[in-house]
Amino acid sequence: MNDYLNTPIEFLKGVGPKRGELFRKEINVFSFEDLLNYLPFRYVDKSSYVKISEICRGGASSAHVLVQGKILSKEVVGTKFKSRLVVRFADETGEIDLIWFKGVKWINENLKIGENYVIFGKPALFNKSYNFTHPEIDLASETKLQKEGLYPMYNTTETMKNRGITSKAISKLMQTLLEGMAFVIPEILPPLVLEKYPLISRDSALRLIHFPKNQDELARAQNRIKFEELFLLQMRVLKQKSQHQLEKSYVFSKVGENFNHFFKENLPFTLTDAQKRVVKEIRKDLGSGFQMNRLLQGDVGSGKTLVALMAMLIASDNGFQSCLMAPTEILAQQHFKSIQKFLTGLDIGVGLLTGSTKTKERRELHEGLQNGTIKILIGTHALIEDAVQFQKLGLCVIDEQHRFGVAQRSKLWAKSQFPPHILVMTATPIPRTLAMTLYGDLDTSVIDELPPNRKPVQTLHRYDNSRLKLYEFLKQELRKGRQIYVVYPLIKESEKLDLKDLEEGYFTMCSEFPRPEFQVSILHGKMPQTEKDLGMKLFVENKTQIMVSTTVIEVGVDVPNATVMVIENAERFGLSQLHQLRGRVGRGAEQSYCILMSSHKLSNEAKKRLDTMVKTNDGFKIAEADLQLRGPGDIQGTQQSGALNFKLADLTKDERIIRAARIAAGLVLDEDPNLSQLQHQKLNITLRKMYGDTVWSKIS
Ligand code: ADP
Ligand code: MG
Repeated sequence: MNDYLNTPIEFLKGVGPKRGELFRKEINVFSFEDLLNYLPFRYVDKSSYVKISEICRGGASSAHVLVQGKILSKEVVGTKFKSRLVVRFADETGEIDLIWFKGVKWINENLKIGENYVIFGKPALFNKSYNFTHPEIDLASETKLQKEGLYPMYNTTETMKNRGITSKAISKLMQTLLEGMAFVIPEILPPLVLEKYPLISRDSALRLIHFPKNQDELARAQNRIKFEELFLLQMRVLKQKSQHQLEKSYVFSKVGENFNHFFKENLPFTLTDAQKRVVKEIRKDLGSGFQMNRLLQGDVGSGKTLVALMAMLIASDNGFQSCLMAPTEILAQQHFKSIQKFLTGLDIGVGLLTGSTKTKERRELHEGLQNGTIKILIGTHALIEDAVQFQKLGLCVIDEQHRFGVAQRSKLWAKSQFPPHILVMTATPIPRTLAMTLYGDLDTSVIDELPPNRKPVQTLHRYDNSRLKLYEFLKQELRKGRQIYVVYPLIKESEKLDLKDLEEGYFTMCSEFPRPEFQVSILHGKMPQTEKDLGMKLFVENKTQIMVSTTVIEVGVDVPNATVMVIENAERFGLSQLHQLRGRVGRGAEQSYCILMSSHKLSNEAKKRLDTMVKTNDGFKIAEADLQLRGPGDIQGTQQSGALNFKLADLTKDERIIRAARIAAGLVLDEDPNLSQLQHQKLNITLRKMYGDTVWSKIS
């Protein structure tokens, strides 16, 4: 059995060395088993034939369809070097052209005028009429087999197609493979799981997924395969989680001088209940003797940074250093400044290390970290890359970790004798399915409450033609003494054009809002640091009232007197970015507004994004909508993680299965944490093969 599945692909009847090479190179299929696991990307219902008249009306465009008919005529046209075969194909309702640019000679010789054929392909509109280019074509007398059931579609590459390995060819090979598979593919799910959940066997699933007779069979096969994928991931994630929980780390046993001083003297407000709860959760972790691995979720402005600061104070009370790693330089600086301010009067050394820290300062920082005078180090990636050595690193706070890779995190670990405690903060909430998968090994804390006296920001969507009204409204706000942000997109590919937009916007604002009544600042990433600082400083001090900028203000900037966020070309921003930007206002006691400006030309998706923003202020809801709209592939951090490269499972749709798989994995691990029981042997081997021995288990 194993021998069969492990057989190199070239030995499958119909493959051979040349095609074998293509399978390996183009789609990573090396063995029979790889081919078995090469799943169709969709299915076409074979029982639904389409009439040519319907195609010509445009009724079937951009879908794969089946047509049965006769060849009326055929003709090779063009030059010898650039010829094409044009076949006139008809059924009782109409006629349509079939066109081939490749394999012209061979196909022409094989097609017979007057015979009945079945063609399968995607009609395309060309010069105002529909045709089929490179359809699959079979004699009607030979296609009985395929008449029932769903027809699988496999991905192939251009190179493969040119060498005859079409989707149909793969399907034929799959048939050969399955026919030769005269044994039952072994089950890997534990009996416990199969009893509890209504799943078909692995063997049935892998056979049916390639040749389902109907939608119901297909659904059962898909469900089983998705469950398996998600179950295997949850086994790993939960195993890692339990290993973290066994990882010895430093004990922060007391809450001392620094924390208490800060809490009594420096904290200018009372904590929200949610903040109090989370601080408690963190304290418990820090005192447990085992490593903390906690994900702190909360909406923009919910006060995560403050919670992180309190954790760092506990570290210093216990004689340990901490670091806070931010994704951008501006954010690191912002954290540095606000933390310094919060710590006024406390004897705690705080350092800032970013890519632009000068060599001399760097040297001083290194010294301070080694002799322990610096207790809190704030920085960007530089913090890990740099030859930084701590005297006693006990806690790492990572802000917006999804931009940090796993490798970078492990570098952080190497800076300490025991692994330090880890607190990961997300800038905005993450969707539930991602929390259970990508972050599934972390404990989670949620701040689900905003500080009191915050009025929800009112969000409006306006079109470019109501700009004059907008200016009127802005003037009213300005005359009440408020400040305003106007943000422009800045996207790498068209940076120059975007900068032009930004500068034009700045000049427009300057003329619409003339001095001396109003002052306008401009800020973008390309400006020298000193100018940026000055621009920001003027705005923070309310010396300028309007800040025209790119998204450099996206994170970190905290000006409570700013009450209006105007986002230009809002259709070009992603949802989470829009939400981040909106989080820059609504920080004071006054009513704030977020105004999304766009042209009338909007894609459906852009329209949905803007509608979502108008409808809700809830970051958790926005995160879900974002995932639905963009799909998981685009969510930051998922690509490089690899952990989420599912064949079938889909984080946007399969939340229910993820939950079930997580519960199932928990049950199995409770019963047999190291999978040493005989009945879990297959599962154990599978996991080791997928994730490697070390990741799966350090213990056994
Ligand atoms: P986040 O990092 O979650 O976006 P911050 O920690 O930056 O939020 O807090 C946002 C703002 O709210 C900051 O100005 C902070 O000082 C303030 N803040 C935090 N917690 C409270 C609270 N309990 N009451 C009032 N203001 C708070
Ligand atoms: Mg923050």
